[in-house]
Amino acid sequence: AVLCRVAECFQHAVRDGDTVARLGGDEFAILLEDVRTVDEADAAAARLYSALMLPVTVTLPQPGAAPSGDADRDGTNEGRGAGSEREIFVKASVGIALATPGEDAEALLRNADVAMYAAKARGKGQAMHFERSMHEQALTRLRLEEDLRVSVADLMNGGESPFAVVFQPIVALDTHRVVSAEALVRWNHPRRGLISPEEFIPVAEDTGLIVPLGLWVLTQACAAAASWPLSADDSEIGVSVNLSGRQLQEASIVDDVRGVLALTGLAPERLTLEITESVVMRDTSETLDQLRALKTLGLRLAVDDFGTGYSSLSYLRQFPVDVLKIDKRGSDGIARGGDGAALARTILAVADTLQLRTVAEGIEDGAQHSSLRGLGC
Ligand code: MG
Ligand code: MG
Repeated sequence: AVLCRVAECFQHAVRDGDTVARLGGDEFAILLEDVRTVDEADAAAARLYSALMLPVTVTLPQPGAAPSGDADRDGTNEGRGAGSEREIFVKASVGIALATPGEDAEALLRNADVAMYAAKARGKGQAMHFERSMHEQALTRLRLEEDLRVSVADLMNGGESPFAVVFQPIVALDTHRVVSAEALVRWNHPRRGLISPEEFIPVAEDTGLIVPLGLWVLTQACAAAASWPLSADDSEIGVSVNLSGRQLQEASIVDDVRGVLALTGLAPERLTLEITESVVMRDTSETLDQLRALKTLGLRLAVDDFGTGYSSLSYLRQFPVDVLKIDKRGSDGIARGGDGAALARTILAVADTLQLRTVAEGIEDGAQHSSLRGLGC
């Protein structure tokens, strides 16, 4: 119903000779004929945006046993009788491409598509014009995606792994002993060699490849940790594994983690799952349910990159979290003073209030070490 209403809005917003088509999903293409300048295309995009300024009103069928007088949570207007009316605000990302003489329709559509993805990447609700460099970027990204697909398939087929798990130690500031280690994945690209996780993890998340890859990393990390010797004071060394938002959306995640613990024989209390602050803070009720279910396995949860998002204290209290990880910027700032130090101090105070443990990332010198230790990190 929303797509139909949006299509109508678009049809009203274009000129008589223009063509509005839906390509599939929520993608529309609009062919503007006799456009000579970029400005004309921009004006058309602006008309589409203003057409979308008004909410789209759709009538939803009334669910059979819906209780009446339900809370009006999303600002919807409950209709009477058979269906309920709902106001939905729609945003669009627009890619603009001008046809050049001799160019076929397929190339024109592809260029507009590339520009639309560039607009999306910039943040939603924007319009961008196609440029040649976007095409190069899109191709590079596409190649990376394809290579990642092949590498993950190889991994699943049990061949020689193009991925490796490395461990970064987590050290107790008072005893200087390694208490845990964070598992980090590396990709040995068949042609390019080692590729930075900053480059391929976002691709793995967008494509969903992070789901099998993440499960593999978890299995490797838990298997490795299960074989580690005790530390010098006879305590067991824990292992931290990053869990992406995409993995948390999987209905099977709790069973998957339980399965890995059973398979590797790692005691659940030795495992910490790290989830970034931005993931913890979105989609609250579902995320909360998943995190609670994970906690029942007996493991620990850490909020990763803490201090980069917008967590509120009251919000954070609802989450079954054990550890806050101070982002490297916080650790960097602590010894230099200024905002970074204030941030780190605030985080440590929050952690103290909520009785959480803190881990600071990337401590590299003695001044950071002593400041953080002094603050109870
Ligand atoms: Mg982490
Ligand atoms: Mg981190």
